[in-house]
Formats: sequence, C-alpha cells, structure tokens
Amino acid sequence: MKKSRVVLLRCESYDDDAVFKTVRRGLELLGGLESFIHIDERVLLKVNNLASSKPEEAVTTHPAVFRAVGKLFKELGYRKLSYGDSPGFEKPAASLGKSGYTRIAEELDIPLGDFDTGRRIDFPEGRAWKSFDIATAVLQSDALVSLSKMKTHALARITGAVKNQFGCVYGLNKAAFHVNLPSGTQFSRMLVDLNRLLKPRLYIMDGIVAMEGNGPRGGVPRPMNCLLFSTDPVALDATFSRLINLDPSYVATNFYGEEYGLGTYRSENIELLGDPIESFIAYDFDVVRKPLHFKSDNGNEVLVPQAARTLGSYVTQRWAPRPRIVDENCIKCGICVDACPVEGKALQFIKPGRKAPPEYNYSKCIRCFCCQEMCPQKAIEVETPLIYRLFGDKKE
Ligand code: SF4
Ligand code: SF4
Repeated sequence: MKKSRVVLLRCESYDDDAVFKTVRRGLELLGGLESFIHIDERVLLKVNNLASSKPEEAVTTHPAVFRAVGKLFKELGYRKLSYGDSPGFEKPAASLGKSGYTRIAEELDIPLGDFDTGRRIDFPEGRAWKSFDIATAVLQSDALVSLSKMKTHALARITGAVKNQFGCVYGLNKAAFHVNLPSGTQFSRMLVDLNRLLKPRLYIMDGIVAMEGNGPRGGVPRPMNCLLFSTDPVALDATFSRLINLDPSYVATNFYGEEYGLGTYRSENIELLGDPIESFIAYDFDVVRKPLHFKSDNGNEVLVPQAARTLGSYVTQRWAPRPRIVDENCIKCGICVDACPVEGKALQFIKPGRKAPPEYNYSKCIRCFCCQEMCPQKAIEVETPLIYRLFGDKKE
C-alpha cells in the first residue's frame, strides 16, 4: 500500500519571507504543486475564517499563510485563483475583510469567491449524509486548496484539515447539521463524507501559533512553530494529533476518515517528511485526552467513555460536558442566542432588557457548542460535571 505523505516544517514566526520560504519548501517536498493541480485549473484557496478576528488571536488561518500560498501560486503561473470561506455567523466579505484577508487578496489580485449563494449537491455515496448545500465559489472551482488552522474544538477535540471544509457549506445551512447530527460522532462522519465529495487537492495547516483550551474561538494561542502539508487530510490531522500528544484514534474524523477511505491515521501508513516530529511535540497541550470508543458502521457507535455508557443515556444527557456562561465576561450581545440552532432556542435572555446574560435550558440543549464557538468575548466555557470527570473524562 502506498503511504500518505505529510510534510512537517519548522516555522517560528509569521514573517512574510519566512512563511513563504517554508510554504515553497513544503510543497516541493510533497512533490511540487504542478503534480496536484494543473496550471490552467481554477483554484480556490479556502481559509479558516470561523469568525472575524485579529490574526494574533489564533482563531483564523493567519493571513500571512494565505499571502504565502497565494504568492506562490501566482509566481508559478497559476492565473485562475479565488479565495474565501463561509463564516459561522457573519457575511463572508465583511468578515474576511475584518480578519485581514481582503487587503492581501487585493495586493495579489485574487478575487473573492461567492460564498453567499450555492446549490444542493447530491452525494449518494455518502455513508452518513447524502446531500450538501455547497457554496458557488466551490462549485465554480476545479481544485480546492484547504488552508486550515491548528485548534482545539469542544465537540470534536480538534479542528484541522477535515473540519475546514465545513465552511464550504454556505450560509445558515451549516446550522441544520448541528440539529440533525447532535453527537460528535455523527457530525464527524458527515464531515468525512463532505471531504469525500469535495476532494480538496491539497491541505496546508497553519500550526505556527495554534489554539489550545477552549477552542475553536475562545481558547489560548499556543506557539507550535510549524506548517504542515499533505494531500491526505486524515494523515495530516493524525500528525496534528501526535504533535499535541493526543491518540489519533480518539478523534472521530480520523477514525471514520480511515473507515470511509478518505485517508489514514495509522503511523505505519504515513510517511513523515521534513523536520523530525519529536522536537515539536507539546505534551502539555491543553486538549481533552479521554479515551473514546468508536465502532464501525456495522456496530453500535458511541462517543462517550465506557463508564459513562454504562450509566446510560439519561445520565450522559444530564452530566455530559455542557456550555456555561462566565457572567463577568458577557457583554449581552446575543450572538450566542442567534447561533443556537435548536428550535425555540436552548438559551435565551430571561431578564427583560438584557439586564443579565442569557440562560441555558439544558434539557433542550443538544451540546453542539455553536454558542461557545460564536461568542466573541470568550465568555462561554465548556463545563464538565464532576461525575463525568470521575467516570473517564480525564486529561492525561
Ligand atoms: S455571545 Fe458571549 S458575550 Fe454575547 S451574550 Fe452570548 S455569552 Fe454573552
Ligand atoms: S445552547 Fe449552545 S450548545 Fe446548546 S444547543 Fe444551543 S448552541 Fe448548541
């Protein structure tokens, strides 16, 4: 079996020249851009712009990485370039401008793709999901280049190469997935299908400064000093997992990515090129490392730890990790309420005139963590009740 290649290279700052040289070397080591994408093809550079934010907050793919990749494509003679993303909440153009991409795109003469509109695409081969509302920009491109950010994620543990394609679903269509696929396992299987449909040609991950802790928006920047390159998103995310001392098989997109044929997370099937991984590993990276038990589609699939399973779904629903608002950080903007995809909302302002932060109705809450993801103030944390921690939700 041919191994999946992942290139891991040291890059310790967002200095334009340093990032450009690292991107160029990474793609050369991977085999050269022209071996993945023909010079005449229409190429879409898909950044991770979850929400408008400053580059130093580590929420988005750093604009310097976008600049380096765009510049390299231009220098190599690619002329049909576009870029973009569908953020979780805002209008794409305004959000990308606030995050620092628009100015660079104008410098490089790369137009913004249309992420405001799209079309439903059937995917009968989907194992977990069989149709997706895909943005026009994606449909109008021949080759998708996925520029992801190395971050933690409340629902999926990590967000990286596979998760980045969720922004190819345009507008509020993303919310429907959270309602229909409330468990992390179901959601991850859908993400794997989405990647099988879109088949990005190339994946580049910004791990120069990653996010640990309360990701994907409210966490803490953590220098990891690296850029990663691959054509296999599962192998890339598995390498990210190893870099943060997380067993790759505990990540649902890795497990189902392998099962559905998207890629491989197994080290024996991955050829690591570039700098040795040992010098990058952050053993104390703040991520949940509890063991999970996935089963293939033919078995009973679960996401919770063994002991919690034995307690039953009622207990899990009551005591599973849940969002919690830190009142003193809340500015009562209401973005979390708007982001909640549950009909009738699982969190609401109760006091008239927004005199107090919104309150949760945990019996309605499906634990999708959209509210935590969208809060601009880092005011929503993921709380893990004691009983759940005792029965296996331990950080190692
Ligand atoms: S999004 Fe954050 S800051 Fe705004 S109301 Fe919700 S918890 Fe408060
Ligand atoms: S309250 Fe938050 S976690 Fe619960 S369903 Fe709404 S958005 Fe999802």
